[in-house]
Amino acid sequence: MRKGCFRLLLAFAVLLSFAFAVSPVCMARGTAKIISFDTSRQADGGVPLFRIELGLNKPIEENDISVEGGGVLRPKRLKIVMKDVKRDSDDVEEGYSFDKNAKSFARGASFLAKDSKELQLTVAMTALAEEGNYRVYTMPKDKKNKKPFRIVIDIYDGETNAKGKVDGVGGRTIVIDPGHGGTDTGARGYRGSLEKDITLKVSKNVEKILKASGAIVVMTRDDDRDVYGPSATDAQELQARVDYGDFTPGTDIFVSIHCNAFYTPESNGTGTYYYYKTELDEQLAQAIQDGMVDRGGRRDRGIHEARFYVCRNSSMPAALCELAFITNPDEELLLSDEDFQFEMAMGICEGISNFFKATGY
Ligand SMILES: [Zn+2]
Repeated sequence: MRKGCFRLLLAFAVLLSFAFAVSPVCMARGTAKIISFDTSRQADGGVPLFRIELGLNKPIEENDISVEGGGVLRPKRLKIVMKDVKRDSDDVEEGYSFDKNAKSFARGASFLAKDSKELQLTVAMTALAEEGNYRVYTMPKDKKNKKPFRIVIDIYDGETNAKGKVDGVGGRTIVIDPGHGGTDTGARGYRGSLEKDITLKVSKNVEKILKASGAIVVMTRDDDRDVYGPSATDAQELQARVDYGDFTPGTDIFVSIHCNAFYTPESNGTGTYYYYKTELDEQLAQAIQDGMVDRGGRRDRGIHEARFYVCRNSSMPAALCELAFITNPDEELLLSDEDFQFEMAMGICEGISNFFKATGY
């Protein structure tokens, strides 16, 4: 290249960067989408890893990415926040569940547009989201392999917990209420599955895990039946469930398990409800919600206050969880899947465990 030409280019580059520096509004925001999940990789030394590649249509500065992991209530959640980035509009899915091959690394991931300027990707890891268990870095555009600029998330194997056990619940008395039953089917799925069957299966998993962990578990029902009786009013039926908690001495918490439903098949995600009798109700709901999202990897719909009978009338901290939407075709399939039922049960149990540990209740 001739010297004059180079100078001209340099001047142009300086001018260009100056224009961008003084008027950031000129810059269109980048878009991001997950382009691949890969469990077949190995880190140096042959350690297996799970790689998530997030493709961006333009490079992002290192200091526009922030990575945050762990915390008391969300110890397995890894958050990657990107400034001036939005989701690719083609990338319609908000929540991703990883397949069985990824099980010992991560359960799923979901996008959250934090405000108009930030995009957050949350990865529900299997291990604690702490240094040494993951690595986040950028990769330049790879023309040869037709790959865009990427943010790479490497997650290392974390299958260290004994399957089906949690700590911190020994000696606790916990009421588990599988939603609906008997003549009350609950919501009906897109393909015809019934809420009452799914809630019972997940609840039985919860019972098994909590008992194996040393807790005393009281089930409001352990088969397909109405708790009060077939021709009861809603209040009679729900009060019969509340009575299990109120009449069992020393009951610590009450947890009701349901599936969500909506008239549009697109609605999706996991949510938890509580009634604010004390601060503990809210803390219990949040802990269970975090546990379910970490394990199930579905979209985090958060916790909400609501006047559900069982939450309002139980005399102990109570939460009602909505595992996922039975009316969403994809989530209905998941809800019917034994592995997902187990993971959601583990999430609920880990939430309960974290609640006791965090609150000292
Ligand atoms: Zn329900």
